Amino acid sequence: MQSWGVYDDIFCAGKESTFSFLQDVLNEVLPLFPSKIVHIGGDEAPKTNWQNCPNCQKRIRNLNIKGDDKHKAEHYLQSYFVQRMEKYLNAKGKTLLGWDEILEGGLAPNAWVMSWRGEAGGIEAAKSAIM
Ligand SMILES: [Zn+2]
Repeated sequence: MQSWGVYDDIFCAGKESTFSFLQDVLNEVLPLFPSKIVHIGGDEAPKTNWQNCPNCQKRIRNLNIKGDDKHKAEHYLQSYFVQRMEKYLNAKGKTLLGWDEILEGGLAPNAWVMSWRGEAGGIEAAKSAIM
């Protein structure tokens, strides 16, 4: 890749090897930083490949994820992805932080949100924390 930007190539949410790879990365990175909070990003994740990937579509079927008038099934798949990583981080005593795109499809239960697209994401995150 010779230029920066947002690309359709994102981690496959349908393969277990994706999660074990990311957990391995966290296992190496976490001891380097004393902070309790870990920013995972979570933005710039176009759903194009997930819509066409048989593994991601299989995961959507197995989890019985359905799209609705608010979000596509792939947005809920991202929520599953982030929640799974959050569980891993929580088990390590860390708190997950992400950009407000992680709100789409439902926020992970203990996650913190940086709302870079305006105050609406902050309000939504605060409301979901109260509930
Ligand atoms: Zn996939």
